[in-house]
Amino acid sequence: MTDRYAVIGNPIEQSKSPLIHTAFARATGQDIDYGKVLGPLGGFAQAVDAFRASGGRGMNVTAPFKLDAFAYATDLAPSAQMAGAVNAMKFEGDRVYAENFDGVGLVRDVVHNLAYPIAGKRVLVLGAGGATRGALLPMLAQSPAELVIVNRTVAKAEELAALGQQHQSGQVPVQGLGYDQLDGRGFDMVFNASSSSLTAELPPIRASVFAAGALAYDLTYGKGLTPFLKLAQEAGVTHLADGVGMLAEQAAEAFLWWRGVRPDTQDVIRLLTVPLV
Ligand code: NDP
Repeated sequence: MTDRYAVIGNPIEQSKSPLIHTAFARATGQDIDYGKVLGPLGGFAQAVDAFRASGGRGMNVTAPFKLDAFAYATDLAPSAQMAGAVNAMKFEGDRVYAENFDGVGLVRDVVHNLAYPIAGKRVLVLGAGGATRGALLPMLAQSPAELVIVNRTVAKAEELAALGQQHQSGQVPVQGLGYDQLDGRGFDMVFNASSSSLTAELPPIRASVFAAGALAYDLTYGKGLTPFLKLAQEAGVTHLADGVGMLAEQAAEAFLWWRGVRPDTQDVIRLLTVPLV
């Protein structure tokens, strides 16, 4: 019998997850059906209950339901606990196992696909929302030389920095700052994990944040050359990337978790890539 999976969100039409998982299933010979569920605002639990009752085996979760899924789950993996949010669920009887694969997907894209080791690098992350929270431990596990988080609302950056310090007993220095505290410092890797690119805005950084040979990575995907990537390009940065690989890699992690097979992501990344021009 075909196993059923779906992504739930609101809105949901834009989601690439059905395309990605259907491609993974075809490539790995897995017999699954992957659909979209438009979850009513305020009606997440009922929508998931109905999907489970109809035989659903697992779901991806996208905005605005990642916190609802956190509350709905019975068994939270450490990644979900740390992120305070859930992006994948697996249903087994009355148990709801929950994960957050965004952070591990980002790290895998950078280290494996882009072949850009994080170990020993000076890393700057812009933004202190859910994506940064999820990426925090997977990034620190790579042993960068330092990790600096900057955010408009400085308290959120400070909170995440304290959390990061606490989880790895201070081996990697982690700082939470405001944008005006960067003081001309340069970094080997700069991640735009703010949502500024969704509205074509530039976070308040200067070109000096990009050290020689730096990687500039915008987690937002499908927007071409965002103002952040454009600034990097104008500063002479040649390693530019958006979050399409992160999207594909978090999906591959969920697929592996559900099906026990790791799909190759290259075809999907190629299919979904919007040129950075
Ligand atoms: P959140 O809403 O949780 O956080 C948004 C963050 O962006 C906050 O830190 C906010 O600052 C900051 N911000 C918003 N607008 C601006 C601006 N104009 N200038 C500077 N900072 C700004 O979002 P998420 O963390 O969930 O997502 C962040 C981005 O990452 C999104 O664009 C999302 O699409 C992308 N993403 C990509 C994924 C992928 O697979 N490629 C997966 C997950 C996310 P403040 O706190 O001060 O308001």
